[in-house]
Amino acid sequence: MKIIMLGAPGAGKGTQAKMIADQYGIPHISTGDIFRANIKEQTELGMEAKTYMDKGALVPDELTVKILLDRVAKDDCKSGYVLDGFPRTIPQAEVLDKAVKELNETIDYAINVEVPDENIIKRMSGRRACLACGATYHVEHVPPKKEGICDRCGKELVLRDDDKPETVKKRLEVYHAQTQPLIEYYNKKNILKEVDGTKDMKDVFADIVKILGA
Ligand code: ADP
Ligand code: ADP
Ligand code: ZN
Repeated sequence: MKIIMLGAPGAGKGTQAKMIADQYGIPHISTGDIFRANIKEQTELGMEAKTYMDKGALVPDELTVKILLDRVAKDDCKSGYVLDGFPRTIPQAEVLDKAVKELNETIDYAINVEVPDENIIKRMSGRRACLACGATYHVEHVPPKKEGICDRCGKELVLRDDDKPETVKKRLEVYHAQTQPLIEYYNKKNILKEVDGTKDMKDVFADIVKILGA
């Protein structure tokens, strides 16, 4: 099963993608996580991506597409994957379509997690991330067992640099200008499904399971 998660920054794509990956036994692929891992390791790619991410801008398509295509070519993607944060532009979507088509395969669903902008800013200031293992928490909605410490790996949790309110506003603008058009793009391909992301995360997941089938 090949699934794309659509939605504004902070809509809950990552949260839902991780649950989907666990339930259906497919890898969760987040381009943001890949960039953050590279920043942490101070690779050349990481250093370049950081200059865009810190501003709330998108990393250029050329760089992003290469990383994604390398990742989905790996063996663990043979039975499918859930993409979180890719595609974010029409050209990225076109590259993905072409790559999937070349393998005689198809994307099954593009799930749009719908959350109004007003809710987003609040959510993001409460988000805490583990840069070591990619786990995400929320100070109110998903608190870790021990404040500031990742339940999964014991490392310290951080407020991402790009989750500060000024940068979130910029990211929302970029989302509306560059990523939102993908909703119509996948609607035309008849694979778009919408879920209400303002619900409790368990209820959002239940709605997704209804779409995907148990
Ligand atoms: P969020 O989950 O909050 O939407 P991500 O972790 O997906 O954030 O992305 C963080 C940042 O990484 C983005 O603001 C952007 O700069 C960069 N990024 C991630 N995925 C892409 C992509 N597909 N294209 C361009 N930039 C990306
Ligand atoms: P995205 O990947 O779309 O940027 P995340 O999955 O990282 O979004 O979620 C953003 C923040 O909101 C995180 O702190 C997460 O714990 C929290 N969150 C996710 N889903 C919900 C929900 N349904 N209700 C409330 N908070 C949520
Ligand atoms: Zn962790």
